Amino acid sequence: MRFSLLSLIRQSFAHNTGWPEQWRSPEPKPSYDAIIIGGGGHGLATAYYMAAEHGMRNIAVVEKGWIGGGNTGRNTTIIRSNYLWEESEALYGHAMTLWQDLSQVLNYNVMYSPRGVMMLAHNIHDVQVFKRHVHANRLAGTDNEWLTPEQAKAFCPILNISKDIRYPVIGASLQRRGGTARHDAVAWGYARAASALGVDILQNCEVTAITRDASGAVAGIETTRGTIATKRIGVVAAGNTSHVMSMAGVRLPLESYPLQALVSEPVKPVMPCVVMSNTIHAYMSQSDKGELVIGAGTDAYISYSQTGGLHIATHTLDAICEMFPNVRRLRMLRNWGGIVDVTPDRSPIIGKTPVPGLFLNCGWGTGGFKATPGSGHVFAHQVATGEPHPINAPFSLDRFRTGRLIDEAAAAAVAH
Ligand SMILES: Cc1cc2nc3c(=O)[nH]c(=O)nc-3n(C[C@H](O)[C@H](O)[C@H](O)COP(=O)(O)OP(=O)(O)OC[C@H]3O[C@@H](n4cnc5c(N)ncnc54)[C@H](O)[C@@H]3O)c2cc1C
Repeated sequence: MRFSLLSLIRQSFAHNTGWPEQWRSPEPKPSYDAIIIGGGGHGLATAYYMAAEHGMRNIAVVEKGWIGGGNTGRNTTIIRSNYLWEESEALYGHAMTLWQDLSQVLNYNVMYSPRGVMMLAHNIHDVQVFKRHVHANRLAGTDNEWLTPEQAKAFCPILNISKDIRYPVIGASLQRRGGTARHDAVAWGYARAASALGVDILQNCEVTAITRDASGAVAGIETTRGTIATKRIGVVAAGNTSHVMSMAGVRLPLESYPLQALVSEPVKPVMPCVVMSNTIHAYMSQSDKGELVIGAGTDAYISYSQTGGLHIATHTLDAICEMFPNVRRLRMLRNWGGIVDVTPDRSPIIGKTPVPGLFLNCGWGTGGFKATPGSGHVFAHQVATGEPHPINAPFSLDRFRTGRLIDEAAAAAVAH
């Protein structure tokens, strides 16, 4: 059923009893033409574009928990594309273009809100790095601008630009097209659209092994819901990628860290944009419910626990209270963590692996939500055709052997 004004009116007269399930929940088939491991936003988007643009209908997304229950449903929803290198600008810019009309394409309101993302500079190093980003972005046609502290405060009136604080604001970069989207809706919208095109979404189905034939190529997967044969697998398992890829005997240059976020009690609109500070590892926006959404940096040690250290949250809240003194008396409602997979150059890996038929999309670290549509779009091309899309070609696993790294570490301190 398409969502429209007419369907809303019809359902209101039927007391909302006629809405169908948003996606099918079929039993696994014995075999598929392709399988995507990981039902986060990236995996679901990949399956959707494989069906919608490459005509592949006999495919499944295999998810060990519930769709969106990984980092997709745990992130702070920041979207921007002002990364430093051309390769990154192309990838995140592609996603930014797809965000614009994603709700219409999926017929599902993903609540994309380009409210502007501002990144604060607190020292000379920040100023140099952000100005370099602004210049590089503008040369590449990506919007990004430099603001004085007064202009930053005009854009976000609750920002404290006093010079007497620990880390005074001495400037900021602003991407006006940046903003937020509703993370769950992104997963659900892609799932619903993919399912309507025939993609099987298999929840509560953990992959426990990847099987290979005599030639070494992938032959299928073992799952908690049985054996499934396939000759093509796309692994999109975020923080669990190293574990899943070890099932095929592939070691990766990845480390998995907990990253956490927290929300305050809801209040009336006070925050018209997103503000981030890499230096003091804190950032904040306001959700449509009114909660202030606050993000922290990663824990200092690797772990698979979906929570974060209390001292990290405390440190973040110290910084938030200093930057936004008028939120000091708010109570925090809840906090949570996700496991982010971090590469040495802080850029993702999208492409082939040494195992024939096995493809990889990972390494998004602390900042992959913003890339969801673009990542799914180019990875669908990679899995469907076996060859990289021109946008994901530079993000091959091979770059850690050749040395052609795409170093976005400066963009990615707490990069979202
Ligand atoms: C606290 C926090 C804040 C963040 N903030 C931002 C932000 O503001 N902006 C931004 O751009 N990014 C942000 N990120 C990063 C972003 O969330 C991720 O990069 C992105 O969501 C990754 O999407 P995904 O689909 O690849 O991964 P996930 O959504 O994690 O999906 C991977 C899925 O694979 C499944 N899986 C794993 N192992 C198996 C298995 N063996 N069998 C079957 N399924 C398996 C998992 O259950 C999971 O659902 C944040 C992350 C966190 C944790």
